[in-house]
Formats: sequence, structure tokens, C-alpha cells
Amino acid sequence: MYIVPEKAVADLVTREASFDAVEKVFAAMASGDAYNFPVVREAIGHEDALYGFKGGFDRAGLTLGLKAGGYWPNNLEKRGLINHQSTVFLFDPDTGKVKAMVGGNLLTALRTAAASSVSIKHLARQDAKVIGMIGAGHQAKFQLRAALEQRNFEKVIGWNFHPDMLPNIEKVAAEAGVPFEAVDLPGMRDADVIISITSAFAPSLMADHVSPGTHVACMGTDTKGKQEVEAALLVKSTVFTDEVAQSITIGEAQHAVAQGLIQESDVAQLGAVINGTNPGRTSDDQITLFDGTGVGLQDLAVAASVVEVAVEKGIAIEVDF
Ligand code: NAD
Repeated sequence: MYIVPEKAVADLVTREASFDAVEKVFAAMASGDAYNFPVVREAIGHEDALYGFKGGFDRAGLTLGLKAGGYWPNNLEKRGLINHQSTVFLFDPDTGKVKAMVGGNLLTALRTAAASSVSIKHLARQDAKVIGMIGAGHQAKFQLRAALEQRNFEKVIGWNFHPDMLPNIEKVAAEAGVPFEAVDLPGMRDADVIISITSAFAPSLMADHVSPGTHVACMGTDTKGKQEVEAALLVKSTVFTDEVAQSITIGEAQHAVAQGLIQESDVAQLGAVINGTNPGRTSDDQITLFDGTGVGLQDLAVAASVVEVAVEKGIAIEVDF
């Protein structure tokens, strides 16, 4: 088997490669070639940690495996480690033998950013100029960096529950040469694309904070109970997701569905838009909303691409296992 340690990953993966891997696997999911296994996520009663497994099989890409890991909220303060910790394991689909073990921390951020970017590519208006960020934590930086590559954005506007964190995303905008302005939530009406990536359990973005024609990518809600946007926004929007089963149970759509405001059949797979079986955005004043819940197949796809490059470059550690 091959081992690719976390510290080697940064030199083996690009935003472009992550984007391609995620776009392909979303398409494979929608055409029935790839499927995700039910997610296991447990509060383990130690260090307030949430630990679990996300796995799947992509018959088209022949990628089988799982990502194990979760969220340790005390890591940063107590140990100087990032709070999200994960490792990807890939298996040979012909034999079941373990094929690779890959550090999953940076990959998680890149594959999550790739997901919202894929949604922007396929659902945002071509003439989108202003991107709004809700959230300024670890993932937000990756989200903004990747999103800025999808349209000719001329301005970034940002709001965060903890305003002292806003410089995190201001820095990303500055690096990309795009002006940044801190706004209040109603100020998000100026955005053509909005990404929300927070760990909130109550909505920040209300339906009337979003103008007609906007594309919203809700990326933070990946657990039962979390919520970033008012459920009424999903009623006003055409809703897409990575995986419908996750969207309505652990994603942003869980609330609108539970309140009877929308139904499972109102949520479409982004992969269907990529494959051309769903028209996606059909007018300039339609609000599109992508509920990015995060699926195991995203992790496996980017990890497989990293292993390929690591083997090519002679960086992968080979172990007789
Ligand atoms: P982080 O701890 O670095 O940042 C948390 C962010 O949430 C900050 O901007 C913070 O100000 C904001 N926040 C905290 N409490 C809030 C509140 N009550 N109301 C509004 N905002 C609040 O975390 P992160 O690593 O950036 O992750 C953000 C979220 O993204 C988490 O919920 C995480 O589980 C989720 N996530 C989703 C995916 C996916 O695939 N969809 C992948 C990775 C992480």
C-alpha cells in the first residue's frame, strides 16, 4: 500500500485537480455510476469530539474507500492542531486489499471549496461581479480562493458572526487583487454569488437578504441541527445538492423539509446539471441554491488523484501490508 502523509499533500494537489475530480464524481453520482454509503457520525463523549466515516464506491473511476475523522473542538487551543482531523483510506475494488492511506485535512478543505466552485460554474450567472462571504473561519479562506476563479468577480463583501475573523477572508481577496468590504447581512443584497460556511445552529442569512438572480452556496451545514440560512430562502430558490439523502437529513434543506416548506422532490442533484439532464439555471432572476453537505466520494476522488501524482513523483511511501 501507499502512504501519503498530510505534510506531503500540499505539493501534490492543485485547486484545478480538486475541481476536476469533484466535478467528475458529482456527474458519476447523478448518472448512477457512483454512490455514497450512509454516513456514520458519533459524539464519542471524549474531548467533545464528533467522529465518523464517509465512504463510497465510484464504478466509473474505480475508487473505493472511506474517510475517517471528524471535529475536535479543543485541538487548536489545547494542542495547536487544526480542529478537523481526517484520513482517507482507498481500497482496490477488484480485491478489497487496502491501496492507500492519505492525509485528509487539506484535502477536505480543497474538496469542499471545489464543490461550491463547481456549483458556481454551473449555476451562477455568467455576469456575476460581487461575491458575498458569510463566514471567515478555516474553510472560508479556501472557499473564497477557489470561487474567485469561477467568474470575473470585481468585489468581495463579507459578514461574519465574529467580526474579528474577517481579516482572514480580506487577506484572500487582497491576494487575488479584488477589493473587500465588510457589510451587514442586508448588505448581501448586493451579491451575485453568496457562499455561507459557518458552524451556526441558527440562520444568519434571511430570505430577504438575497436578491433575484443570486446563486447561494450553503456549505457549512453538514450535521443535524446546524442551519445557516432561513428555511424560507429554500422556498424562493431552485435547490441543488451533492446528495439528496444528505441534503434533507443533515444539510441545509433539513429545516425546510421538516417544516413542510419543500419536499425531497424539490431538491435536485448538481451532477444532473453537469450531465445536462437538469437545465440548472433557466433565468437571470432565478435564485439558485446549492446545499453542499460533503460526500465521501469527493474525498476519495481527490485522494485518488493525489496518490496518482505521489506515485508518479516517487513521493508515496510504499509499505508491504
Ligand atoms: P471554523 O471553526 O474555522 O469557523 C467557524 C465559522 O463559523 C466562523 O466564521 C465563525 O465566526 C462562524 N460561526 C460560529 N458560530 C456562529 C454562529 N452562531 N452564527 C454564525 N456564524 C458562526 O470552522 P470551519 O472549519 O471553517 O468550518 C465551518 C463549517 O463548515 C463547519 O460547520 C463545518 O462542519 C463545515 N464543513 C462542511 C463541509 C462540507 O463538505 N459541506 C466540509 C468541511 C467543513
